[in-house]
Amino acid sequence: MIKPDLKLIQKYDQPGPRYTSYPTALSFTDQIDKEALLEDSKRETGPLSLYFHIPFCESLCWFCGCTTVITTEHERAKTYLDYLEKEVALFLPYLQSGRETVQLHFGGGTPNFLEPDLIRRVGRLIHDNFNFEPDAELSVELDPRRLTRDHIKAFAEMGVNRASFGVQDVNPVVQKAIHRIQPTEMNTRAIQWLREEGFKSVNLDLIYGLPHQTVESFGETLDEVIGYNPDRFAVFSYAHVPSIKPAQKILERAILPSAETKLEILTMLTEKLTSNGYIYVGMDHFAKESDELTQAQRNKTLQRNFQGYSTKADSEICGFGLSSVSQTSNVYRQNYKTSDLYTQSLADGILPVQRGYILTEEDRIRREIIMRLMCHLTLDFEEVSEELNIDFPSRFSHEIASLREMEKDELVEVTAENITITERGRLFIRNVAMCFDAYLQKRETRYSRTI
Ligand code: SF4
Repeated sequence: MIKPDLKLIQKYDQPGPRYTSYPTALSFTDQIDKEALLEDSKRETGPLSLYFHIPFCESLCWFCGCTTVITTEHERAKTYLDYLEKEVALFLPYLQSGRETVQLHFGGGTPNFLEPDLIRRVGRLIHDNFNFEPDAELSVELDPRRLTRDHIKAFAEMGVNRASFGVQDVNPVVQKAIHRIQPTEMNTRAIQWLREEGFKSVNLDLIYGLPHQTVESFGETLDEVIGYNPDRFAVFSYAHVPSIKPAQKILERAILPSAETKLEILTMLTEKLTSNGYIYVGMDHFAKESDELTQAQRNKTLQRNFQGYSTKADSEICGFGLSSVSQTSNVYRQNYKTSDLYTQSLADGILPVQRGYILTEEDRIRREIIMRLMCHLTLDFEEVSEELNIDFPSRFSHEIASLREMEKDELVEVTAENITITERGRLFIRNVAMCFDAYLQKRETRYSRTI
């Protein structure tokens, strides 16, 4: 990959969506017919991608932006599972029979907050109710601080063979400041167990922009984690939003790196990972050449959804659990984010949908364009015109013209036939996608920064 240019990063770094959906979740509303959102699933016939949110964590990491329930009472997980089972039972009538599941992901929170016997119960829940394709991808987010080999075995028994876990930073000073102590031995032991249990892909999450981090210290973290030899890295920029996540205020007691230091860290990490055999897939994700994420990008089957990048295109996402998001070709819907509302709804025999959005024809066209750019890094005008039944160059002439400045900076190449994001432009794909976003003007300031 071409060396990132700090001046370009400064020029294009601005608030913008991450495009895990289009339109983004800011368009979701609770003033909507929830039954209509659910009914849409009845029309779908394609494969399914399941998501289960397990919100529990034993302690709060102070940087965390996820929907969590902080507790050490493991009994609560049992009750939660009762509700998950209810939710699945209430949703099944909305699915036509015979649909195959090609993907499943357990996110959180901490899925291994569940004890192994509860994980096995989840295994029965999914296999009793869904048909899995033989090469379906089943993945889980794990927390090495609470992980035992038996947890991994229980997930493996239900077919899970891809895992992801947060390291964030290996520096003990940073770990203390973020309230997440995770010694090296925990990381290496978790990876060893996963490999021994036959997991195909291991992803590590890192975060830059945390207290006390410097270019040098984060470089040392990278040297160590590259040595763990994972298949993928997701390296996120820390988003400091104490107005939404009050616990983040605690981090202000320590020294947060300046915007300039963050950009230098980004430059350094991109160079380091790409020179150590990781391909920059886009949007914080790096993967080995052999990894299915890289392969999917090459085969144009990569997709973006609420979990980030996914290798299974064109599947209906069915989310279960607190805050989970579901997606059909026409609608998005999201569950309640608080335990009380989620459980009350299910206790009343009603699916816990809080809000959602029905896409217009224009939204669907723009979503396809944005997702193609984000995932394939190129857009063929003839192909997209034919598939979407539009004359792309004339309908989007204004948007194409707005790429001119980025073209001058060699971030994109625009010809009469296509738009291609260059090697240099990969860091800026959000900026390119933003040119095709019809909602952006009104909302600019509520997004994280693009780089
Ligand atoms: S373990 Fe993960 S989900 Fe739980 S508090 Fe920490 S970062 Fe958030």
